[in-house]
Amino acid sequence: MSYRDILQKIRLAFPQPVSDPIHDSYFVHSIMRALDQVDALKTQLPILGSVVSADFEQARKTTLPPRMSSVEQVTADLVEYLRGMTIFGHPRTQQNVVPPPTISSLIGVLLSSLHNPNLAWDEYSRLVALAEVEAVGMTAQLVGYDRERADGVFTFGGTGTTLYGVKMGLEKACPQSMRKGVSEDAVVFVSDAGHYCAHNVVGWLGMGTDNLVTIPTTDENEMDLARFEQEARTALENGRRIAAIIATMGTTDAFGLDDLQGIVRLRDAWVDEFKLDYRPHVHADAVIGWAWSVFNDYDFGSNRLGFRPRTVRALAGACRRIRHLSLADSIGLDFHKTGFAPYVSSLVLFREREDLRLAARPAEQMPYLYHFGEHRPGTFTLETTRAGTGPLAALGNYRLFGKEGLQVILGYIVEMAQLLREHLEGQEGTTVLNRDNFGTVTLFRAYPDGVDTFAIKRQEFDDPAYREVLLSNNDYNRAIFDYVHSEAMAGRGAVISSTECYRRTRYQEPVYALKSYILSPFVDEGDIEVVVAKVLEAREKIA
Ligand SMILES: *Cc1c(COP(=O)(O)O)cnc(C)c1O
Repeated sequence: MSYRDILQKIRLAFPQPVSDPIHDSYFVHSIMRALDQVDALKTQLPILGSVVSADFEQARKTTLPPRMSSVEQVTADLVEYLRGMTIFGHPRTQQNVVPPPTISSLIGVLLSSLHNPNLAWDEYSRLVALAEVEAVGMTAQLVGYDRERADGVFTFGGTGTTLYGVKMGLEKACPQSMRKGVSEDAVVFVSDAGHYCAHNVVGWLGMGTDNLVTIPTTDENEMDLARFEQEARTALENGRRIAAIIATMGTTDAFGLDDLQGIVRLRDAWVDEFKLDYRPHVHADAVIGWAWSVFNDYDFGSNRLGFRPRTVRALAGACRRIRHLSLADSIGLDFHKTGFAPYVSSLVLFREREDLRLAARPAEQMPYLYHFGEHRPGTFTLETTRAGTGPLAALGNYRLFGKEGLQVILGYIVEMAQLLREHLEGQEGTTVLNRDNFGTVTLFRAYPDGVDTFAIKRQEFDDPAYREVLLSNNDYNRAIFDYVHSEAMAGRGAVISSTECYRRTRYQEPVYALKSYILSPFVDEGDIEVVVAKVLEAREKIA
């Protein structure tokens, strides 16, 4: 075959550069074939096809095929990789903080991928750059920032948002760090229920993980402010500089919410008391909790949307903390968590636009880019190439749902989580652990017959005499989880997950918990009952 023939096949494998409706049909048809094949994997179960074991050893030996294939063949090949995936939108999936993406957000990703805008520079992204600015503006307004002053960029995940927050804080506390490297006496504070990405961030920024101070949390899984004050004062008295204080607004396991207002109040007082020549940066890791901002102006008294009283209380309980997000100097938000967008769609927002430029580079370091145009985030972002997929997915969902739609979907899944708690608390053999955290995640434990589930939680948590009991009940719950999980994989019951340590007891042992994370709008009361019934069944089986 001459190269010309092959080139012809190659050209057909691209969307056409000039309007060609016949080829467009082929393109659309190719996508439809892929969707059909994925659809064929669906059953009534929360899994695509069935779980196939993956041979990673074999995978490493894969070789590049010598010759061209066809779009049809490759489509069939690629669809195979979805086998065994959890269907996150399935009503029987309550696995983790992974949402099902909406059609609008998927279209956003498709359109962006189709024409490959690069957000580094408006010359390469045109109005998609504008879409990012609109998503930033809407979000700034949602959380209560002054849109004239705020600014933000989409970045590589929630971890990226924390990296930006801490980096700019470091530049404030230790000016010139960008140029001269990191001075050793800078510290970062985060609660012990905060996300482990804080470790990555201080490590990768060169500050060193020894300089990350983790503050114990209260029973409500929020930073203990008295302990924080003590630690921070010690640091300041020793002449150390505070690069950042990370307030976790929605912890990953329990949905604990730090007292951001209290943290900011302490910070402000120290600036005066210690005559600091900088204001320690407060970053809100709200990658999960941000979405509750849609209730900031909801009148819980009149409850226009008619949520159940228990739901109203849960929403108001979360809002009590989320309402203060605008006090943070920067905020991280994941649309790919509580915003129903596909990966990766994460935004870091700064209250003051200059803060986002503290790590900008001089123009002479970037000779091949940015000679003109008016919008050049690439001059101050960590990334060079940034995709348009995140902003278009986020914007797609903002426009699809509007504030009311977001209130309804979030309110509904909170309602379902509350229902689950009601059912779990209605059983003698199970107890809810994060009762005072009002998100869509429920941590719970089951106990063997004869255990007083009203008293056991406190005993295990406070009393070292219960160490053996706690550890044995950890094992008991692992066994419950194994049963529920294997049943789910066989198509019975529901997919939940577990955590090895949702928090430590007062005597420092880990508390294992079963975990239900509801993010599917398709969940109904019946699906909640299935989870509880399966856990009770597990109790019978492993007794
Ligand atoms: C998930 C999570 C992160 C990390 O976000 P990615 O998008 O997974 O990088 C950071 N903080 C919290 C509280 C999280 O739950």
